[in-house]
Amino acid sequence: MKILVLGGTREARELAEALIDAGHAIITSLAGRTEEVSPIAGEIRRGGFGGPDGLASYLIENTIDLLIDATHPFAAIISANAVLASHKAGVPLIRLCRPAWQAGPDDNWSMVAGVAAAVDLLPSGARVLLTTGHRDLERFLGRADCRFVVRLIEAPGIGLPAHCELLLSRPPYRAADEQVLLRDQRITHLVTKNAGGAGTGKLEAARALGLPVIMIDRPALPPAREVQSVDAALVAIQSLVS
Ligand code: NAP
Repeated sequence: MKILVLGGTREARELAEALIDAGHAIITSLAGRTEEVSPIAGEIRRGGFGGPDGLASYLIENTIDLLIDATHPFAAIISANAVLASHKAGVPLIRLCRPAWQAGPDDNWSMVAGVAAAVDLLPSGARVLLTTGHRDLERFLGRADCRFVVRLIEAPGIGLPAHCELLLSRPPYRAADEQVLLRDQRITHLVTKNAGGAGTGKLEAARALGLPVIMIDRPALPPAREVQSVDAALVAIQSLVS
């Protein structure tokens, strides 16, 4: 089959590799806003499609047999576009979305519906490890009564005010190292999106230190056939082939 994978995640990369090994022709689509550090098997295209209609046209013009949405759980616009484009083009869609993290009995999480609620929940004087990425950074930084350690993979396009410290680094992060960071920076609150997946070192460290976590819930997505792992995606794709 000729398959378009909407990517930008580790799962998309792993799936592209597995599908090529299984003999499929794979095009991975990237938004193209960040640098891709790990190589991706197969063909790559970069940049937006121009909304759901543009994506539908791409599917038709490139005779795509199957669309896989393997984007990040917080990439809600492209996921909604994928549903619309799949209907419009008559191309089946499978969404690959890793499970959300769940709080355990020893966690001290406050679940919030979005960034605004997370910003509001921070008490004055909080020392925050902020791991929510580039988007909406300015909304947090408006809280000049808090201190932020902003951890990003790539430098932000904006200058950071004096009450913020920039930490540029790449995962993986081990829980032991995260504990050292939280202690050294005298962090009182961790703010994160519920991305799910392997990056749980910070959550384990917060748990061990008894720190509160402000956990931003995932955006709601329109219904689609959904699987939660690369293996489950391969099974679903195989069932379409046969
Ligand atoms: P978004 O808000 O859902 O999408 C905004 C626009 O970017 C879409 O309308 C689409 O433009 C374009 N776009 C997004 N993903 C694309 C893709 N894979 N291929 C082609 N165009 C794409 O997305 P986002 O949250 O900015 O995320 C952008 C990319 O970064 C995604 O691919 C996602 O997997 C990855 N990512 C996101 C996060 C996160 O926290 N949001 C974290 C890690 C990785 P058109 O409408 O013009 O088609």
